[in-house]
Amino acid sequence: MRNQVGSAPTKTWTFFEDDWHEGNVAIMGPRTHGAWLGSVVFDGARAFEGTTPDLDRHFVRVNVSAERFLLKPVVPIETWLGLAREGLKRFDPTAALYIRPMYWAELGTTGGGVRFDPESTRWCLCIYEAPMPAPNGLSVTLSPFRRPTLECAPVDAKASCNYPNNARALIEAYRRGFDNCLMRDMLGTIAELGNANVFMAKDGVVYTPAPNGTFLDGITRQRVIALLRGDGVSVVEKTLNYADFEQADEIFSTGNFSKVIPIIRIDGRQLQPGPFFQRARELYWAFAHNG
Ligand code: PMP
Repeated sequence: MRNQVGSAPTKTWTFFEDDWHEGNVAIMGPRTHGAWLGSVVFDGARAFEGTTPDLDRHFVRVNVSAERFLLKPVVPIETWLGLAREGLKRFDPTAALYIRPMYWAELGTTGGGVRFDPESTRWCLCIYEAPMPAPNGLSVTLSPFRRPTLECAPVDAKASCNYPNNARALIEAYRRGFDNCLMRDMLGTIAELGNANVFMAKDGVVYTPAPNGTFLDGITRQRVIALLRGDGVSVVEKTLNYADFEQADEIFSTGNFSKVIPIIRIDGRQLQPGPFFQRARELYWAFAHNG
């Protein structure tokens, strides 16, 4: 058993270096490039109610993220899927779990070490208990912080180094009394929430920001768009401003962790969880259970 770093807050199993380890196993050291300079990509999928919706797509994306991050992905999708199946057996079959594959660079290069060695990939698959948040609804406000463009940050990968910008946006909003925030891109148009994609409805049409490279075109987002359209709902991907959200009939978010969640307040304005939110959530659950 490798060193434990603190204790894992919930039951956790991690596949790392040919074996499963329980708890918050040490995967990096002080000389690890990923720990020092942030060369980490990851993805997040879920198991809940005995389902694992779009698990394969999350593993495909972590390999794509690694490639775009210029780090060699070394785990074939079938291997990821096989390990996930193996890991899930260590938990209750209906447990709500977060399934997190990660890659990082182990080695820097000589002469400062900023340029990591793309061949020095290490990886793990961490699975842990994480209850599904109840769809009670979130309050949101406008964040003063923006999403960078690809020229400024590796936003084409689900890279850990993109997250402190989102974390400071969430903390800033939280300090002003909000659960989450709408973040803009550098052009000032709405990109997403601090940790999920965002949808709104107006006059019977559902809208969501068109992917422009500054934010994650989420797997749940894509799934919900397809499910709603399959159900006859008009879903339009377009440039949206904060004023569009301020005047929306309803707002909801999509993301792997919480799936589909309503927004029930934007600044001082209360909103109801609306019919499109309800439909999207029902369709997602039906998809998760029946494919
Ligand atoms: N945006 C951000 C910043 C996220 O962290 C997530 C969660 N992964 C999403 C959007 C939603 O993406 P997905 O549906 O693929 O989980």
